[in-house]
Amino acid sequence: MQHSGKAIRAIDQATVHRIASGQVILDLATAVKELVENALDAGASVIEVRLKEYGSELVEVADNGAGISPDNHASLALKHHTSKLEAFGDLQALSTFGFRGEALSSLCALTDLSVTTRTPSQPAGVRLTYDRRGRLIGQAAAARAAGTTVSLKDLFKPLPVRHKEFLRHLKREYAKLLTLLQAYAIISTGVRLLCTNQVGAGARSTVISTQEGSTMRDNLITVFGTRTVGAMEALPSTAQGSRLIEGFVSRASVGCARSASDRQFFFVNGRPVDLPKVGKLLNELYRSLSTSAASASKPIAILNFVMPPDSFDVNVTPDKRKVFLHEEAGLLDSLQMVLQQAWGAAQSTFATQDTL
Ligand code: ADP
Ligand code: MG
Repeated sequence: MQHSGKAIRAIDQATVHRIASGQVILDLATAVKELVENALDAGASVIEVRLKEYGSELVEVADNGAGISPDNHASLALKHHTSKLEAFGDLQALSTFGFRGEALSSLCALTDLSVTTRTPSQPAGVRLTYDRRGRLIGQAAAARAAGTTVSLKDLFKPLPVRHKEFLRHLKREYAKLLTLLQAYAIISTGVRLLCTNQVGAGARSTVISTQEGSTMRDNLITVFGTRTVGAMEALPSTAQGSRLIEGFVSRASVGCARSASDRQFFFVNGRPVDLPKVGKLLNELYRSLSTSAASASKPIAILNFVMPPDSFDVNVTPDKRKVFLHEEAGLLDSLQMVLQQAWGAAQSTFATQDTL
């Protein structure tokens, strides 16, 4: 085949930035995820996600964390600018959610971004605005307690096609966001996570609200309700070598009324991630151990794998949802043991109750 003979040229920087940004911030859920993770990294104990029109008009994430010091205002939203990683070697010992300095820079390309912040040592807050390339273009005094609020106005408007799709599938995007926020609400014990939404001129409604200082079980009850959590049991969190599996699963003999795949949350060291093989093992084992009534359904499950930071890699996909586990087979074996123990025990508990 003959090629067209057209010259190969470098894409201009602004276009490169837009393309790359669209890969980091895939949708409403990833946009909010990055902001919530920044608030957690800043040590916040209260995080409020405020939406207008399900997030399409305005997303605000406010925290009571460390705030951003004036030295960092200009570099805050520049690409690959981060306060969390100094050398590549630090990736091995990662304890923060962020480390690449890509989120705010990417968001600037996709929305009008502004930040209101104040550190405890500043006398007042400041509202900062940034352009599409992440350059600081405005600052004004603003009232604010210590902490940070990041606002995204008209998300995806600079990308007309994606914006149209976003508005067309708004309810689905919103549902995905809520599922993701549920994951953070459940795992972030000790943090109060709130999400509210306002539609039109209507009253602001609260969609998620956990309490500060709550346990994982408390958070589960807030998210799923007492009845659902009553049908779940805590995993015996015994260490397997340097690894620990903690969490809650549906009892073997219960069975869920509906498919629970949107109620399976997996974490590695408290970071929500996708673990398809864990999901597969979980569902297969549940089906094989359950009584017939439950055999068609999937268990609700919250599983947090606690392991040394150098035993996995989250720097695999731009949205950091995929992880490479260095000892995946061993981990799946441990999980199988823990689940068999939990579900085996549950069955015998029920058997004794039946005979009473
Ligand atoms: P990363 O989280 O990978 O460092 P981001 O683009 O998400 O990259 O954020 C850039 C920097 O902005 C962070 O390293 C942090 O110093 C600062 N920052 C962002 N959000 C907050 C916040 N809510 N509170 C305090 N600092 C923040
Ligand atoms: Mg970040």
